[in-house]
Amino acid sequence: MYSLERLGWSEFFSSQCKQTETNSELVAARVAGENREMYRLLSANGEFMAEVSGKFRHEIQSRADFPGVGDWVLASMRSTEGRATVHRVLARKSKFSRKIAGKKTEEQIVAANVDLVFAVSSLNSEFNLRRLERYVSLAWESGATPAIVLNKCDLCESAEEFRAEAESAAMGVRVILASAVRGDGIAEISEMMCGQSKTTASGAPPTALTAALLGSSGVGKSSLINSVLGKELLDTGSVRDCDDKGRHTTTTRQLIVAPGGGLLIDTPGMRELQLWDAREGIAQAFGEIERLAAMCKFRDCKHENEPGCAVQAAVEARTLDVERLESFHKLAREEKFLAAKQDSAVRAAQTKSLKTMMKQVNRFYRDRGR
Ligand code: GDP
Ligand code: ZN
Repeated sequence: MYSLERLGWSEFFSSQCKQTETNSELVAARVAGENREMYRLLSANGEFMAEVSGKFRHEIQSRADFPGVGDWVLASMRSTEGRATVHRVLARKSKFSRKIAGKKTEEQIVAANVDLVFAVSSLNSEFNLRRLERYVSLAWESGATPAIVLNKCDLCESAEEFRAEAESAAMGVRVILASAVRGDGIAEISEMMCGQSKTTASGAPPTALTAALLGSSGVGKSSLINSVLGKELLDTGSVRDCDDKGRHTTTTRQLIVAPGGGLLIDTPGMRELQLWDAREGIAQAFGEIERLAAMCKFRDCKHENEPGCAVQAAVEARTLDVERLESFHKLAREEKFLAAKQDSAVRAAQTKSLKTMMKQVNRFYRDRGR
């Protein structure tokens, strides 16, 4: 059993609870797992399986109003059964969400109330500043504070140089050199998750921070999480429970209390946010083609088979590599895909970083033209 502070409870949430609510039998709890509208709640009274109340469901405006992993809720507990009913979701301090396709595109919460985002890169050929910058801006957009983790420093002889490079690219963002294999940087990560003050002047217990990791597949996120959790290895197995109707439901543990303090959110949805990695290198092709596109006959030319297409003409004349055009088309398809898939905040971050990239590309051509 944990204190509310150990679960990340803070003034931000307590100030939302009206006197009448705190006096009633409603209890604050944190959503640690979700599966088909069954929620695993952690509270000062222990762990509960919960569903939302009928009234809550009736009053809900959109999918994003449903509880998500990391949310703080007010629930009524039936301690003897270990079950609970969610009556309210407290306002979120930060959120990661995605758009899901259905009758209409709806926002779905991927992770709520994340305080710290570790943007992870590994110190080998995967190292890419642009990518790190995108993870950092994604973190800021969510409302969380980013930090950069450069993992696999055991494989790299010039780790400090990479650190300096990352520090100058992401001003004011803390950079940690880590090795999940050797143990470097793990204490630093754990310490950040514990919050600012281990002992506060007022004697109040410190609020644990909630962290999430963003990074391409293979950079060592799972290994880092396991190192931070120590012996309590990341529980990827799911827990089976029976609901009221006797059906079996599973809720995976997606929010984990770290033994050294702090909490970790690791949901499949968070890992999916890394989709836009694919646009790597495509932005460069973009600048070149955009310049040619200005000379196409039709303003909305897609550079496929349209007459008077300057881009196709450049391919024919071998002044433009056909692979570059293919990359461009790939980007266009991806853009469409992302537009359907992702939340506007995420997209805003991407547009911003794409604009920055575009500026760099344009500068490159301007300088070359001199
Ligand atoms: P994820 O996809 O980001 O979760 O990455 P994993 O944690 O699954 O790690 C991918 C691979 O990198 C595995 O083979 C790990 O053993 C390896 N790995 C992870 N961290 C380190 C590290 O710090 N140093 C070295 N040398 N290998 C690592
Ligand atoms: Zn064209």
